[in-house]
Amino acid sequence: MDAKGAGLHWGQGYDPLGHAESLGAEVYPSWKVAGWGDYRAGRIRYHPRLTQAEARCTVAHEVVHHEHRDDVLGYCGVGWLDGRLEHHVHAVAARRLVVVSDLAEAVRWSDHPNEIAEQLVVDTRTLYVRVLGLSLGDYRELQVRARGSVRRSLDDVRRFAAKRLPTCCSPRRIKIKPSAHD
Ligand SMILES: [Zn+2]
Repeated sequence: MDAKGAGLHWGQGYDPLGHAESLGAEVYPSWKVAGWGDYRAGRIRYHPRLTQAEARCTVAHEVVHHEHRDDVLGYCGVGWLDGRLEHHVHAVAARRLVVVSDLAEAVRWSDHPNEIAEQLVVDTRTLYVRVLGLSLGDYRELQVRARGSVRRSLDDVRRFAAKRLPTCCSPRRIKIKPSAHD
């Protein structure tokens, strides 16, 4: 993926909504969404009750489905991140939303996942997916950029991530009642 070539910025400057529109997808909030968001046939929906960071991450996730043309069944309506595909899709979105330079800056200021996520304008689930997906090269770059002060913070986040990722991905955790306003 070549962000500059597509006129895009990854990381904190990444605008998933603008990206979606530049790819011809339609994006809108909908109370009919059963979880956080879904995708079907060029249409990205996200739940109106999401926070700004959650909506940003959700749209970024659905953009990846749009790029894959995951049109046949519609996606994310069931089993958000349950399957291997969903996890892969979110890992791609997380890499776009959180670049190493931003992460290095964020972990210099805080070692608490909520604060780090807030600074990066992502939800903690996306932070966890990103941190668990860091490559060896990413780690080396982090160490250099944060001048060695990054280790403890990252270890903390990794521990949180490993503990919480399996349950934090369930849409039921945010207590959305999708049918009330249909
Ligand atoms: Zn999905």
